[in-house]
Amino acid sequence: MSRKRVKLLVDSLTRSSKHFNKSEVECLVKLFDTLVAKASSHFAGAGFDRTVFRDTLHSAFGLTDEVMLDRVFSTFDRSNTGNITVVEWVEGLGVLLRGTLEEKMKYCFAIYDLNGDGYISREEMFQMLKNSLLIQPADEEPDEGVKDLVEIALKKMDYDHDGKLSFTDFEKAVREESLLLEAFGPCLPDIKSIIAFEQKVFRETPK
Ligand code: CA
Ligand code: CA
Repeated sequence: MSRKRVKLLVDSLTRSSKHFNKSEVECLVKLFDTLVAKASSHFAGAGFDRTVFRDTLHSAFGLTDEVMLDRVFSTFDRSNTGNITVVEWVEGLGVLLRGTLEEKMKYCFAIYDLNGDGYISREEMFQMLKNSLLIQPADEEPDEGVKDLVEIALKKMDYDHDGKLSFTDFEKAVREESLLLEAFGPCLPDIKSIIAFEQKVFRETPK
């Protein structure tokens, strides 16, 4: 990319970003470029693929679970093209690193709403919980324990009693008990890895 185009890109991203200043956006674009260079498959539009995304989030934030990383990828990849563009990258990191509670609630809800129909269903809770819990092999009927948890979650969060969680249900529950934000599986980086990531990426401020 030419210098002028990079400048235009950084200006436009800085304007649209609620969380990063100009020099931070520059650092994120720089990191984006190194990730694109790493990607084995090259798309028509510039971006990097799922594999690079997974490796990056794994090493930066310690997110190791494959299923969860796929969900995080899908919420970043808003245009659903199978690769992450620079806009998606900066916006997604904005939520992960510095998102407001509102943004984080939307993000987590989208992670758990596997089919994207606007509700977290019993089946979706079951799948996410089953995946995120370490089932002891000694458990005779591990699925039963997960089913019980789904019912407990519904009892606590399904305010309108329709057997599924709308965003309104989810929001109300999280505002009452913030731990419910990641009720169906960890999908946000912890504060330690956020600080480490920011120190590493934003350390050198390009001119
Ligand atoms: Ca759903
Ligand atoms: Ca409901």
